[in-house]
Amino acid sequence: MQYSGKVALITGASRGIGRAIALKLASLGADVAVIYSGNAEAADEVCAEARKFAVRAESYKCDVSDFLEAKETVGAIKNEFGTIDFLINNAGITKDSLVLTMKEESFDRVIDVNLKGTFNMIRHCAAIFLKNKGGKIINISSIAGIIGNAGQANYSASKAGLIGITKTIARELASRNVCCNAIAPGFIETDMTEAIGGENPMMASIPLGRAGPPPGGRPRLAGYQPTPGFFLPSPPVFSSS
Ligand code: NAP
Repeated sequence: MQYSGKVALITGASRGIGRAIALKLASLGADVAVIYSGNAEAADEVCAEARKFAVRAESYKCDVSDFLEAKETVGAIKNEFGTIDFLINNAGITKDSLVLTMKEESFDRVIDVNLKGTFNMIRHCAAIFLKNKGGKIINISSIAGIIGNAGQANYSASKAGLIGITKTIARELASRNVCCNAIAPGFIETDMTEAIGGENPMMASIPLGRAGPPPGGRPRLAGYQPTPGFFLPSPPVFSSS
């Protein structure tokens, strides 16, 4: 299998897009470390699904925004799996409101989880990648980080920041055979976007006029009609390959 013997660490893998990434990597033969923040049952369910592909899968509770907790978790994964080959920085949150009413703590928390959390994981995995003379990092940004989105000053700033850190890490580590890329999805039906439904003005800018189907689940939006082919609501952002 393509990724047999490789170890992937995926943050925010208990639900939504992270869950789908973890299961896809497992289906390709990678062992997976599933990081979650509070939802242990969901993370354990992802591990059970992943093991059906005859790979190793373990879940780890870790608030990625906490520098020391992230360090301990990366250390534990390295000890238990032997190494880390792929780091997928997917954990993310929203705390939306218009800027006039956005609370300071809402701004800080979103930046801490989405942007600093990604820095923390890269910071603690980098030495492992350098020792291995290789590694792959994928940061999950968002279309909101490219075009902005009313009500998401905190979120779009964090996601634009992810594009900056991606390009910088790619430049810093390319010579050591470590690749760093970002992906900027458009709306995908997950718990994160459930509250938004079809009413957000950003939806009107999507040519298909709807969110992407939920990863591995049933569509939630009323009137959803499946479209054959791959849903690509926004251009991916590549930094190194
Ligand atoms: P989701 O369904 O809400 O899942 C969020 C995941 O992040 C969960 O696994 C959650 O763990 C984890 N998480 C939250 N806070 C954390 C923390 N402090 N430390 C560690 N893990 C934490 O989200 P999603 O829609 O799949 O989004 C995944 C990523 O894609 C996010 O970065 C999001 O910004 C990005 N994205 C999503 C969309 C979209 O339309 N859905 C579009 C563009 C980009 P628990 O289950 O334990 O709470």
